[in-house]
Amino acid sequence: MRPDVTVVRLGHRQQRDKRITSHLGLTARALGANHFVLCGDDDQGVLDTLADVTENFGGGFSSEHHPKPMGYLRHFSKQGGKIVHLTMYGEPHDSVTVDIPTDAPIAVVVGGVKVPGEIYKLADYNVAVGHQPHSEVAALALFMSELMGGVAGPEQFAGARLQIQPHPSGKVVIDRNEDS
Ligand code: SAM
Repeated sequence: MRPDVTVVRLGHRQQRDKRITSHLGLTARALGANHFVLCGDDDQGVLDTLADVTENFGGGFSSEHHPKPMGYLRHFSKQGGKIVHLTMYGEPHDSVTVDIPTDAPIAVVVGGVKVPGEIYKLADYNVAVGHQPHSEVAALALFMSELMGGVAGPEQFAGARLQIQPHPSGKVVIDRNEDS
């Protein structure tokens, strides 16, 4: 069963982080998350980028800004969701991910410049992708791949206008609007 995954990005700074946060949202979508919650600065540019890609490439991915991440996560937890915090201080992803139930909604939390200490306690799972500092995008990609059973995202994104046709030596894109 494919889990219902929300990726929660803490502490976004509009000027410094707009590119990496957009990449984080795109990675979340491509690897099978359903929802993206942007915390920190309310950056419509990031939300628009994610909406544009979803409109062109399909799927039911949605995103929103939320001003109070701790309130959001406490509520998520009270509703029965499981919170997974990606942190280099956590338990190894290749041993702990298998324990995460996939029949309840999952919030995957990734940090920004400073992660509130309370997150470590609130999280049901603190998960490390190696114990070296690296990137939230890399951590999310490897974790999602493990959670989804090694699959690099859904095979089909419903309602896609653009579809890539794999090709060994060129770019082939099918545009459904042009076919009709
Ligand atoms: N200074 C931040 C802190 O105090 O935790 C870390 C910043 S790091 C560039 C941004 C985010 O990437 C972290 O909060 C974490 O979610 C993720 N991350 C980085 N390295 C990781 C690792 N080895 N395992 C899991 N997540 C990691």
